[in-house]
Amino acid sequence: MSRLRFDNQFRRLLPGDPELRVFPRQVQAAWSAVDPEPVVAPRLLAHSEELAAALGFAPEDVAAPWFVAVFAGNALLPGMQPIATCYGGHQFGRWAGQLGDGRAILLGEAVLADGGRRELQLKGAGPTPYARGADGRAVLRSSLREFVCSEAMHHLGVPTTRALSLVATGEAVVRDMFYDGHPRAEPGAVVCRVAPSFLRFGHFELPAMRGDLPLLRQLVALCIARDFPHLAMAGSEEARLGDWFAEVCARTARLVAEWMRVGFVHGVLNTDNMSILGLTLDYGPFGWIEPYDPDWTPNTTDAHGRRYRFGWQPRVAYWNLAMLAQALAPLCPDPAPLQAGLDRYAAEYAAAERAVCARKLGLSACEDADLALLRRLRLLLRDFEADMTLWFRALAEVDPQAPTLAPFEAAFYDPARRAAGEAALQDWLAAYAARVQRDPLPAAQRIARMQAANPLYVPRNWLLQEAIDRAEAGDTGALRDLLQVLQRPYQEQPGRAHYAARRPDWARTRPGCAMLSCSS
Ligand code: AMP
Ligand code: MG
Repeated sequence: MSRLRFDNQFRRLLPGDPELRVFPRQVQAAWSAVDPEPVVAPRLLAHSEELAAALGFAPEDVAAPWFVAVFAGNALLPGMQPIATCYGGHQFGRWAGQLGDGRAILLGEAVLADGGRRELQLKGAGPTPYARGADGRAVLRSSLREFVCSEAMHHLGVPTTRALSLVATGEAVVRDMFYDGHPRAEPGAVVCRVAPSFLRFGHFELPAMRGDLPLLRQLVALCIARDFPHLAMAGSEEARLGDWFAEVCARTARLVAEWMRVGFVHGVLNTDNMSILGLTLDYGPFGWIEPYDPDWTPNTTDAHGRRYRFGWQPRVAYWNLAMLAQALAPLCPDPAPLQAGLDRYAAEYAAAERAVCARKLGLSACEDADLALLRRLRLLLRDFEADMTLWFRALAEVDPQAPTLAPFEAAFYDPARRAAGEAALQDWLAAYAARVQRDPLPAAQRIARMQAANPLYVPRNWLLQEAIDRAEAGDTGALRDLLQVLQRPYQEQPGRAHYAARRPDWARTRPGCAMLSCSS
């Protein structure tokens, strides 16, 4: 049996909802008690061995019937006290009121052997008071995507919530994937997500919007004491608040710069999906840039305004932070510290962008002209339809003495576009080669630097879709292979060329690959 110890601070220290029945309602508290709803035939499809070990689960624990029962929502470990938390959010730029954990259930806050803390949260384990009439369930396709992508992000070195387990429920879930009157029954699943904290910007926005300043103050105090303990000693309450907000801004800036480095598009950057710890949170209709296009959004719900397009992520994150600042303003009579936090975002993002530029191009440091060089390249990749991941990966193979397009052949989607871009790309390569030659970094270090910043394997939507198709047919082999490859995204792996290929033609328009909806 597990020896995990729990210290459920959120539940212990913040006011709870006195109502114990589960039905949709407005909750004037921080959380509601709610048990996961058992499922008929749970089956463990995948788990993260590394994360299981970090939580103190031995391989025989994972193989035991209680493990799958707990992470399907059919049983609780001693010390678990399940709750759903209450939050609000701005969705697509508009205040949406109370949202909350509609299908996420926090099982408990585990205390690790090294003193670290991890919240264990089931997603898809049944309705909560925040389900707003929905079923509280999740389909296998979206659960598999969240499981694989959050683990892949971790191995890419991008801050993220993690995933411990993916359990098939044996139950059907009905979804209308494109909200067009074609509902179908799909296999259901439950993911156990793990993070030091699942607090979102929206947790602070909701009490602020309701004028519930005591709760807002309590949430901030808990967050600082529990999740930012290094700030807990700072002088006055107001100074602490300013330091904390500035750190949230800095972490968010670094997070977004990392998304831009690897080509990740979140797809639904509403404030309720923004982690206060600066983690990638809530994997839904996300996507990976394949042919480089800064205007691309994978989310069909966002297709019209494309608010959450790849290239806008830095400014959307800033807007979201401004909403958080507004929520905190009642606790901070002098607006200067909040403005300073927002300024910190801009400064931190600019610094992170330079660092990313130097790493991706293999330079010892980023000069102003290098940013322009990178910007020029991005336009060329867009105009001539080159794959972002494959292009940057191949850049390390360029010979600065004699640069040619030869290393990039696999990156082009359309021979005609490649031919049209030949001269401009060649020009760019010449400028790049000249810059590299003048850089003090020795070739071996340059190449190592680039290979550590430009992944070869990312969870492209069509790779996820292949794993989903096979898993829905009862075969988890493709899922296992994909997970294994993505554990070492920066290392070329023999026999794994398929996972580094550009998007095949069949995936260009296939739902789940080219476009995704929020229906999950
Ligand atoms: P999302 O768009 O996934 O960030 O979700 C927005 C809100 O809808 C959150 O409050 C979710 O908990 C809730 N939600 C989404 N899907 C479901 C579902 N199937 N059942 C209950 N609540 C849901
Ligand atoms: Mg969400």
